Parts: sequence; C-alpha cells; structure tokens
Amino acid sequence: MTDASARPRVRIHDLDAVVVGAGGAGLYAALELKRNLGPEARIGVISKLYPSRSHTGAAQGGVCAALGTTEEDHWEWHWFDTVKGGDYLVDQDAAEVMCHDAVETIINLEHLGMPFNRTEEGRIDQRRFGGHTRNEGEAPVRRACFAADRTGHAILQTLFQQCIRLDVAFYDEYQVLDLQMPDGPDGRVTGVVALQTSTSEIHSFRAKAVLFATGGFGKIFKVTSNAHTLTGDGVAIAYRRGLPLEDMEFFQFHPTGMYKLGFLLSEAMRGEGGFLVNGEGERFMERYAPTMKDLASRDVVSRSIYQEIAAGRGVNGKDFVHLDVRHLGAQVLNEKLPDMSGFIRTYFGLEPLTDLVPIQPTAHYAMGGIPTDIDGRVLADEGGRAVPGFYAAGECACVSVHGGNRLGTNSLLDILVFGRRAGIAMADEVRAAEAPVADRAAEAGVTTTRDELLARPDGERPAVIRAELAEIMFSHCGVYRTAALLGECRTAVRALAERAAHVVVQDKGRRYNTDLADALELGFLLDCAEATVASAAARTESRGAHARDDFPDRDDVDWLKHTFAFRDAAGGTPRLAYKPVTITRFPPKPRVY
Ligand SMILES: Cc1cc2nc3c(=O)[nH]c(=O)nc-3n(C[C@H](O)[C@H](O)[C@H](O)COP(=O)(O)OP(=O)(O)OC[C@H]3O[C@@H](n4cnc5c(N)ncnc54)[C@H](O)[C@@H]3O)c2cc1C
Repeated sequence: MTDASARPRVRIHDLDAVVVGAGGAGLYAALELKRNLGPEARIGVISKLYPSRSHTGAAQGGVCAALGTTEEDHWEWHWFDTVKGGDYLVDQDAAEVMCHDAVETIINLEHLGMPFNRTEEGRIDQRRFGGHTRNEGEAPVRRACFAADRTGHAILQTLFQQCIRLDVAFYDEYQVLDLQMPDGPDGRVTGVVALQTSTSEIHSFRAKAVLFATGGFGKIFKVTSNAHTLTGDGVAIAYRRGLPLEDMEFFQFHPTGMYKLGFLLSEAMRGEGGFLVNGEGERFMERYAPTMKDLASRDVVSRSIYQEIAAGRGVNGKDFVHLDVRHLGAQVLNEKLPDMSGFIRTYFGLEPLTDLVPIQPTAHYAMGGIPTDIDGRVLADEGGRAVPGFYAAGECACVSVHGGNRLGTNSLLDILVFGRRAGIAMADEVRAAEAPVADRAAEAGVTTTRDELLARPDGERPAVIRAELAEIMFSHCGVYRTAALLGECRTAVRALAERAAHVVVQDKGRRYNTDLADALELGFLLDCAEATVASAAARTESRGAHARDDFPDRDDVDWLKHTFAFRDAAGGTPRLAYKPVTITRFPPKPRVY
C-alpha cells in the first residue's frame, strides 16, 4: 500500500477532455467537443497565457480558401499550390482535405461571427498571397480572406466568444509540463500535469482525451517573428515521452521581418502590391521568379534576398534589402494595412508613404512537429500507430499539409480545419473511453522538477543560455546550412543542454515566478533545437525551407520521405526513421515560380 501522506500535494481535476492551448486550433477543438458531447460534458482548455494573448492573435494577412469571390478560383488549384509550395513533401491526401474543407470552414467561421472585410457587393473580400496561383501556376490569384491586417485577432476573438457561450471551462495561466501516460509510450494518454503560474502549485488534469495545440517554437532562433512564449512546450513534452517529431528540419524564414527586430511585416504588403528592391534600387525578384516575382513562395524569396546580399547588393553593403510600399497610397496603407503601417512608424520612425522599409528574413513558422493523422490522432511511430487518447493540432502538429515550406495563409486554415476535425474525433473517443487512470509518477516528477529548481542556490541564469542557443541556431541552422555548420551547431546545443541542467532560478517566490518559467522553457527550447539540428544534418538535399549549400539540389530518389526523430533517453544523438510521402495526384516536378 502506498503512503498517501508521502505523495506530493497535487490538486486534481477530473474532466472528459483537456485541450492544451487557447489559440485558434485549441479553441476550435474545444468548441467541437462541446457541440458534439453536449452541455454536460466537462471540457477544459488549459493555457499558459490568457487566451486572447495566444499567438494566433498576432496573425496578420489572411486565411485562404478558394471562394472565388473576386475572381475565378478552384479548391484543386489551391491543393496544387499547397503541394508545390511544400516542395512535394506534402502528404497529398491531407492537403486535399484541407483545401477542399477550406471553403466550408470559412463560411462556418463567418456564421460564428468572424468580421471579414467585404467587397462593394458585400461578399467576403480576398487578396493575393505568395505562391497562390490560378490554373496551377499561371498567375497570382486572390485567395486570402482577411480582416484588415488583424485576421488572427478576429479569429481568436470569434472562437473565444463561442467557447464562452458554450461554457467551456478555461484554466488560464497554467503551464502544462508533462503528459500522463501511466503505461509508458505504448499506452494511453490519460491527462496532463501543470504548474499554476500565479501560485506555482501543481495540478493534475485527468481526462479521456488530451489535445496539444501549444503552437510553435520560433524562439530557438535569434531573429524571429515569434513571441517570447513560443518555446515548443508541447512538442518537447511529446519528444521526452518517447514520441517522434516529424520533419523538424523544415523551419520557415519569412522574407519580410523588420531589420534586426524580426517583427513581421505581413506578406499582405506584397499581396496588395508592395515589392522588394536591393541596394541598387532594382526589383530583383523578377530575376529569381519571373512569373510570381515578389509573390513567389517564402523559401524562394528569402533565399533570393540572401543571394542579393551575398552578391554585394544589400543596402549600403549591409545584410538587408528594402520593401517598397510607397505607391500603395494612404487609403490602402491605412485601411487595409493599418497595423503594418503603424509598426513601421512606431518601431522604425519611418513613413511607409514616403520611405523605403529595411527588411531581412525572420524565423517564422515550424512546418514540423508532433506527427498526426488527418483527425489529429498523434502517431507513435513511422508505421502510423496512433497513441490512444492523444491528439495534436495547429502549429505544434505535423499532419503534413505544409511539407517543406508552408504557403502564406495556410496556417490559419490548418488550425481551423484540423482543430475542428480533432475536436470531433476526440468527442467520439471520449464517448467510448473508460475513466482515466492517474499517472502518479508524472505528478511526482513535475513536483520534483519545480522543487529542485526553486531550491538550487546558485548556477547560471537561463537567459544567458537561451540567448546563446538562439544565436547559434540562427547563424548555423538558418536559411542556408552545411554539414560543417550543422556539426558545430549540434556540439554547441549539446554543451548548452549540459549547462542548462545546472541553471539557477533567482526568484525563490511562488507568485508569478517568471524566472521559473524561463528555466522550464529553456529545456523545451533545447529539445526542439536538438531534434531540428539532427534532422537537418541527416537530410543531404535541398528542399523547401531546408537549403543545404553542400547539397543544393532536391533529391527525390533518396529524400522524398518524412523524417521521424526520436529522443535518445540516455542523452545521445536522436534516432531517425523515415516515412514515405503520400502522393495521390501531383507527381513531383521542378519547382519554378
Ligand atoms: C506575426 C505572425 C503573423 C502571422 N500571420 C499569419 C497569417 O496572416 N496567416 C496565416 O495563415 N498564418 C499566420 N501566421 C501563423 C499563425 O498565426 C500560427 O501558425 C497559428 O496562429 C498558430 O496557432 P495555434 O493555435 O497552433 O497556436 P497559438 O495561437 O500559438 O497558441 C498556442 C497556445 O498554446 C498555449 N501553450 C503553449 N505552451 C503551453 C503550455 N506548456 N501549457 C499550457 N498552454 C500552453 C499558449 O498559451 C497558447 O494559448 C502568423 C504568425 C506570426 C508569428
């Protein structure tokens, strides 16, 4: 018999389903869980941030669907663009679901109250975005639906309000630190263990199904559009639990980050007619992408910028080029791009109507993550075995609909389509599942981690290691990679992980201890970095966002396959396995824009 008094003090919550993450993916799943299971169902959304601060709220330019409200469009054209944009690493059956369901999803969202911009006739307005074309590459097409340049904010508010209406329970400012898997990696997920930010108390959430919708991990890089909180918690927790991470080598660098700051200037600025110029004032994208020019896919535009800089055509010999939006005029800038124009004025002190804007590529979006099927079920291996009770959706997941490079506006679509599908599939599983079994070891493990960090008297500060990690990942595992750079990066990440085992949390208090959160998040970042570098070092080809200077060509013979990275429990190199890409309609061809 166990001695109950020896157990750590943990507060217990019994729920039917738990959603971790209150961005678009998590909220849509929670909504569907409630709708499908009814008002009595106990659905909890746990978020380390207040929901409206989730990163979905930062999304700017749009969410795409082939509505054809302003010009001819077809969902099959969208499907082709997604597959080509992903450099043929996209699973085509999954992309078919996403692009086909997009139209219904946008209409549903409108019915939920989403305030889209309108045409003069009152239809949903649409704008151009990179890589979206008519008739499989002929010319750009208007496919992105938008709410000015605050599309993500409007989506987040719409879904949050609907969740409140349906009485979803919110656990705001709780940071999930582990999964409950009492039978190990081959068994069921039966809940999560979280630290309450306001008190540092440990909470055990037990549930018949768990969804991770914890967002991306752009903070492994120094220059990034991602917020401080995008530290890959969910991705790292799954990895630590022996589950694989898929295609981690594919991380998107968005061409138009604000120089040195990394904040994003949405592709909508080019979608509305803006363009890039080098230090000589030349519109250089015409040379790299004769048809799509500045609206080629992001990996192509980011590499073109680097090539201009390498050829000495950066502005004043420096490592940036200019975005020119002066000709768009006051009405477009102030009404369709108000936030972007405000960023330029506030952070640079420049006037977009009269000044050129300095930009450089910024780390933006994780194509890789926790592997799932098209209903959000997490896969335990490259053979496709699902983990009972465990789901993932949104940027932390890899379905894979983005392959080697995501198209702009396909992420907001991904979180809506697959958040919704995951919620529906979870509801089915909840109906059939037995009461969850608690994982006492997970509860005790999280408690020990907290206590040891708070008790350690001295050590290095997490922020120092975090800054070094971000620096080396940006310089050695960025837009261009080589075996030598990746080798150095791998050694450096390993050394940083050893140092991270001895960090000090200087604040010993329990109330809103952000020092403690920083220490915990550093561990998650290091795990994401380890899987990213190992996967990148192994892939000896260039595809999508993974550009190897030493292997400049795409190699469909050896590398038309997904990487599955498994953590080595003893701290060694991750084990890599591979899974074939699903090709149903579009055979791989050379990728020209
Ligand atoms: C500046 C910017 C602009 C963008 N613009 C566009 C665009 O125009 N169109 C487009 O398609 N895409 C865009 N994207 C990408 C898109 O916004 C994101 O990929 C998407 O919103 C991610 O949604 P999500 O639901 O997966 O996660 P998020 O919205 O990032 O939410 C993650 C949630 O997980 C919670 N969480 C994380 N870790 C934990 C933990 N340990 N415990 C508890 N909770 C946790 C967070 O609190 C948060 O609620 C943009 C991205 C950025 C950075």
